[in-house]
Amino acid sequence: MLEIKNLSVEVEGKGILKEVNLKIEDGESCVLFGPNGSGKSTLIQAIAGNPNYRVTGGAIFFNGKDITEMAADERVKQGIGVVFQQPPAVRGVKLLDLLKHIHSDENRIKSVASELNMSHFLERDVNLGFSGGELKRSEMLQLLLMEPDLSLFDEPDSGVDIENLELIGKAMNALLKREKPRVRKASGLIITHLGSIMQYVLVDRGFIMLDGTIVCSGNPQELLENIKENGYEECARCRQ
Ligand code: ADP
Ligand code: MG
Repeated sequence: MLEIKNLSVEVEGKGILKEVNLKIEDGESCVLFGPNGSGKSTLIQAIAGNPNYRVTGGAIFFNGKDITEMAADERVKQGIGVVFQQPPAVRGVKLLDLLKHIHSDENRIKSVASELNMSHFLERDVNLGFSGGELKRSEMLQLLLMEPDLSLFDEPDSGVDIENLELIGKAMNALLKREKPRVRKASGLIITHLGSIMQYVLVDRGFIMLDGTIVCSGNPQELLENIKENGYEECARCRQ
């Protein structure tokens, strides 16, 4: 599904990612842990194709195709969907109108919106004045209608209360087809700080990023317990 080889990325002339290697198989969902500023969001921006994040080395392959130089909207068409950490508001564009560009069936739009408790937001401007939980639900609604092969979630559990977390977890499970292990192709990469979303979404593998590079991978629950017990300092020590 996704293969990242020796990826180095700079932002504003500063090297952030250094030779990142990461692979996500068809149907696999992974979490990415790491302290603030380690480069997790940068990795998602680079996969999404944000032109401000310049690839200085290595490559990104999606479904066997080299997408390193591909424009962001083309990557969406190829099947990559993203929930950003800070999604932008769009003044003057109603959420419903945006969703109609994503999906042609208005009944489907309304039914998914209702599942996410978002029916009364359809007539509002996209993300404008939305609370933390509403923002994430609005983004999740777009992704559910898009049905990407690969979903990237940047801290879906940050700034979200328990009720919202449950709704978001449910949406992620549907998107990642977690309940259909035999037939699923959908894959995910989930950045999480404290692992709260893992109470709702069962993930297959975890990675730890430190200082712009992946230093460890393994059982996600074990990695999380280790981080909670020993902090990231232990990862830095273990890496040496
Ligand atoms: P994380 O998501 O792990 O907290 P980020 O990827 O957001 O980390 O940031 C990694 C480093 O890159 C930080 O030092 C941050 O300041 C820098 N950085 C990220 N995006 C930008 C940007 N658009 N402009 C300038 N610096 C950036
Ligand atoms: Mg981040």
